[in-house]
Amino acid sequence: MMRFAYQKPESVAQAAAVLEADPAAQIIAGGTNLVDLMKYDVTRPGTIIDITGLDLKTIAVDETGALQLGALATNAETAYHPEVQAGWPLLASAILAGASPQLRNAATNGGNILQRTRCYYFYDRAEPCNKRRPGSGCGALEGVNRMHAILGESPDCIAVHPSDMAVALAALDAEVSVEGPSGKRRIAFADFHRLPGDRPEADNTMERGEIVTGISVPANPFGPHQTYLKLRDRLSYAFALVSVAAAMRIEEGSIAQLRVALGGVAHKPWRRKEVEAQFVGRPANRDTFTAFAAALLEGATGHGQNDFKLELAPRAIVRALEQACAGTPQDQACKVVL
Ligand SMILES: Cc1cc2nc3c(=O)[nH]c(=O)nc-3n(C[C@H](O)[C@H](O)[C@H](O)COP(=O)(O)OP(=O)(O)OC[C@H]3O[C@@H](n4cnc5c(N)ncnc54)[C@H](O)[C@@H]3O)c2cc1C
Repeated sequence: MMRFAYQKPESVAQAAAVLEADPAAQIIAGGTNLVDLMKYDVTRPGTIIDITGLDLKTIAVDETGALQLGALATNAETAYHPEVQAGWPLLASAILAGASPQLRNAATNGGNILQRTRCYYFYDRAEPCNKRRPGSGCGALEGVNRMHAILGESPDCIAVHPSDMAVALAALDAEVSVEGPSGKRRIAFADFHRLPGDRPEADNTMERGEIVTGISVPANPFGPHQTYLKLRDRLSYAFALVSVAAAMRIEEGSIAQLRVALGGVAHKPWRRKEVEAQFVGRPANRDTFTAFAAALLEGATGHGQNDFKLELAPRAIVRALEQACAGTPQDQACKVVL
């Protein structure tokens, strides 16, 4: 049996103080990932800080037109909210492509972007994993690595980030609000998750004691030209092999603005703004999208079982861009064919 202390703080400051003081303390929100990790004995929190009583459940559009999401609003409440569906369909679509209805009812927005990798070696305590036990090695490098990274990986870790929602937030230039011992700050989504480098145990750039309080998503100028395409082994209840969040503005047949983030290929949502900028002004057609895919995936490498992603990823990018261009309906089932 795993023993732990339980605390239910009444304010973010109180929660942050406990988190900072006790290195073995961990936050629980919906619990759909943390409790699994405890059952597999991947993590053993000394204290569980239950934040579900905190007032972090907002879903609202502010005076600047930005969407403000509380860390504790659930994935289901967010994805089905009329303002999110109307104004940020890419985000709603990405959330609904993840997990199952039951899980999305419990999963929170903060917990979603902080969920841990699904790498088999991370979950299996009999295997080496630098993310779970720094210095123990990476079993996936020469092992079962069908789900793993093709971009941004390191000799220490080739795990991928599993969140669908995070891929959409990366494309939409979101910001994460955190609060901790040094006060409040906002982190650009691109800087929130990390590549593994030689410290794969750190998934993100939050400091000890910091708690995610919300996510802000700027007003969305992409109209119908945005999509989330998720390719996986079955059409529901499976993590992405490759996913693409794509949004564009088109003026007179040419790309006026372009945003693309990839899931299932790296330790964080993969986005390269400098590549997007190079394609502004080019015609919005398959030739351009194919060239863009090649540029975005430059340097991609397979590790054996995941070599197929080197072909799947460019095809997925081209398909997503064609669907964004055409304004294809957001349901994943509509994205099976053009
Ligand atoms: C069978 C299954 C299939 C799934 N399929 C998908 C999928 O296809 N796509 C997908 O995106 N996800 C999928 N998920 C993952 C699911 O979306 C996550 O488990 C969920 O979003 C986590 O949210 P939570 O509130 O339950 O987090 P919790 O389990 O409560 O927490 C997760 C982590 O975040 C930390 N945390 C939580 N909230 C905060 C906060 N506000 N501040 C600081 N730290 C915090 C916790 O300490 C913990 O480390 C799946 C899960 C399961 C079990």
